Amino acid sequence: AIQIPTRLPLVLTHESVLLPGSTMRTSVDSPRNMQLVRSRLLKGTSLRSTIIGVIPNTSDPTSDCDDLPNLHRIGTAALAVQVVGSNWPKPHYTLLVTGLCRFQILQLLKEKPYPIAEVQQLDRLEQFTNGHKSEEELGELSEQFYKYAVQLVEMLDMSVPAVAKLRRLLDSLPREALPDILTSIIRTTNQEKLQILDAVRLEERFKMTIPLLVRQIEGLKLLQKTRKSKQDDDKRVVAIRPNRRISHGSVTEDEEEEEDHDDVVMLEKKIRTSSMSEQALKVCLKEIKRLKKMPQSMPEYALTRNYLELMVELPWNKSTKDRLEIRAARIVLDNDHYAMEKLKKRVLEYLAVRQLKNNLKGPILCFVGPPGVGKTSVGRSIAKTLGREFHRIALGGVCDQSDIRGHRRTYVGSMPGRIINGLKTVGVNNPVFLLDEVDKLAKSLQGDPAAALLEVLDPEQNHSFTDHYLNVAFDLSQVLFIATANTTATIPPALLDRMEVIQVPGYTQEEKIEIAHRHLIPKQLELHGLTPQQIQIPQVTTLGIITRYTREAGVRALDRKLGAICRAVAVKVAEGQHKEAKPDRAEVGEGEDCKEHVTEEAKPESISDTADLALPPEMPILIDFHALKDILGPPMYDMEVSERLNQPGVAIGLAWTPLGGEIMFVEASRMDGEGQLTLTGQLGDVMKESAHLAISWLRSNAKRYQLTNASGSFDLLDNTDIHLHFPAGAVTKDGPSAGVTIVTCLASLFSGRLVCSDVAMTGEITLRGLVLPVGGIKDKVLAAHRAGLKRIIIPQRNEKDLEEIAAHVRQELTFVLASCLDQVLNAAFDGGFAVRARLEHLNSKL
Ligand code: ADP
Repeated sequence: AIQIPTRLPLVLTHESVLLPGSTMRTSVDSPRNMQLVRSRLLKGTSLRSTIIGVIPNTSDPTSDCDDLPNLHRIGTAALAVQVVGSNWPKPHYTLLVTGLCRFQILQLLKEKPYPIAEVQQLDRLEQFTNGHKSEEELGELSEQFYKYAVQLVEMLDMSVPAVAKLRRLLDSLPREALPDILTSIIRTTNQEKLQILDAVRLEERFKMTIPLLVRQIEGLKLLQKTRKSKQDDDKRVVAIRPNRRISHGSVTEDEEEEEDHDDVVMLEKKIRTSSMSEQALKVCLKEIKRLKKMPQSMPEYALTRNYLELMVELPWNKSTKDRLEIRAARIVLDNDHYAMEKLKKRVLEYLAVRQLKNNLKGPILCFVGPPGVGKTSVGRSIAKTLGREFHRIALGGVCDQSDIRGHRRTYVGSMPGRIINGLKTVGVNNPVFLLDEVDKLAKSLQGDPAAALLEVLDPEQNHSFTDHYLNVAFDLSQVLFIATANTTATIPPALLDRMEVIQVPGYTQEEKIEIAHRHLIPKQLELHGLTPQQIQIPQVTTLGIITRYTREAGVRALDRKLGAICRAVAVKVAEGQHKEAKPDRAEVGEGEDCKEHVTEEAKPESISDTADLALPPEMPILIDFHALKDILGPPMYDMEVSERLNQPGVAIGLAWTPLGGEIMFVEASRMDGEGQLTLTGQLGDVMKESAHLAISWLRSNAKRYQLTNASGSFDLLDNTDIHLHFPAGAVTKDGPSAGVTIVTCLASLFSGRLVCSDVAMTGEITLRGLVLPVGGIKDKVLAAHRAGLKRIIIPQRNEKDLEEIAAHVRQELTFVLASCLDQVLNAAFDGGFAVRARLEHLNSKL
């Protein structure tokens, strides 16, 4: 039982109705209510002062002076449990109040600053609780009510603690309190609550609450029914998408989601049907599970999806069937490439072994040679003969190891490395990968790509190559790797160790002519839509292009020049067609140079009219030297050799560069000075040492050869400075092979004699005047041959290298094999180089 004071301060609430036994939070902001809170609740000290009367459904005017509105006669006495003040958005208090019992206003005692009324308690009085008759009279009603209440509560989710507690309360609370409590719990309007509040008699209250309960129960039943059917629906989806909840309201969004979800389902299906490795499958399934839970707007969604799509696309188990027939392979290689016998032989060996023993863990072939000698295109031919897909991976300038191995997926914009990307592109797991320019891999802070390549190229390891992006192993053992490089010098040794180097030297002029006529010209004609009936390039012209417009080991510049010619001819041909379209062809003037192209014989004489139209008499256009000059401009390279050798102190050396062999002029001059040696041109250290060696040897042999300085002394450096220069210095030249050239050049300078203009030389020297062997003889000889030189001095011990040189080139050249510097000098100067000893010997005879 409760006893409330007879005088109560009144709080007027607007939207909510507080019923006895329930708790409610209400916000008060009218001046009267605020005043009440401030002076009564916040200042009060006794428990009594926290009891207030809550009068519902009364809008309290906002300003102070306004009169008190009509008050509802019945209110709820309440205990203010908590007061929270706030300034936002305007000053107000939030009260937490618990209803105690009903009361009736007997008389309003005071209106300001807040209303106080004399009240009479209406229920929860002793007489009611102990009420005798009520129990019997209301027995049936209350029993009925109790039944409904239990039914309702049991329809709720019992696992929620509050519901379970409510269930217990139903039994422990006195029955008369239940209508109020349940009314405040179930869904009711304020109006209905107000009616309940007004129902002071218990019987009435029971009667009024039962329909509300029934209504709630029916509503719940309906809800459960629909939920069940929805659940059935859900179950169908669940089979495919167990963890996704349909939570979006709008239809379009739902559809979009559906569509997207279809994609994910498709993706999952693809993953399951793809033939990826077990490990990869596990990772993929895990990822797709995550994907399903992920909102689509998350950046990671796209990332994961891309990843999964890549995984599906990768050729885990897809391969082309090798068709390997050595005879056919030989034909393909021969058809595609002229010359390069050594290379073709090795490639055929390689393929033959593959044919005999499948799954060869053979060496990685690495073609090393100057640009434009067909390294890449041989790789392509190998793929063709094997019937495999071909993919070229350009490694030039790659300085980040994630280019090879991919980025970890944590990075934004991460992607797989080039190997995995290539596999995705070709779509099979046994393509031919051409690793182009392995010598141009660079190192940087992002790691060493060459080190990453090691794993790729090692047959023992690459069956479980792990790209950082994929993060699962991929079997690369079926991939055929071929590497190309211009020089082995800059390939990291560990990488070089895994490869078998096959040198591809440059071509001779004759080979180039053949290549041009067999491969390059037909290709260019086709590219430009020309036919042999429209253009003719005789061999002399090709030779002219090779010698006067290009200077290279390969055929790339030649190819370009031929392209330029074809373009020019295409213009003429197109113009010709245009002319034809005009009725009066004879009137159209021809350019003078065009006339020169026309050969008289080429004119068809007795061809029918139609043929005449198809083949105008100007065709074919013959490319001669005149036309060449017109199209390509004046020749870029002259036979400058003889001009430059018309003074003492010049000699021709042979150098090797990654771009092939080159001839190199060495110039020397002397002047008064303190015996200093100056070297210019792009030189390496070894070359400088060679220069010092040469001078030392000459000084020590000055007497023998009658070499003197300007003042006639045998001490060559006495009062003399020497300057050595190596022109065409854009390319750094290094290596010991210029030794003999420097000696010859200086000998010429000090003796005042001219070096033969058709002689080139190469060889390392020692302090004692011996000539040691050097490398790159074939390239050097080809360069000398290109430059039109006739005699070549090479070290004796390089004789064996001459065998590699084509016979016709050898025939056109004279080789002098030298083992000591005497022989070199004798060969370099017309009539030999006088040796003092012989003179002395003669002297003594006199
Ligand atoms: P590299 O890779 O050595 O720099 P490429 O393979 O790109 O050179 O060759 C350049 C061009 O020269 C290609 O069009 C190729 O067909 C052609 N070529 C080179 N050598 C030969 C050859 N021996 N026979 C036919 N064509 C050749």
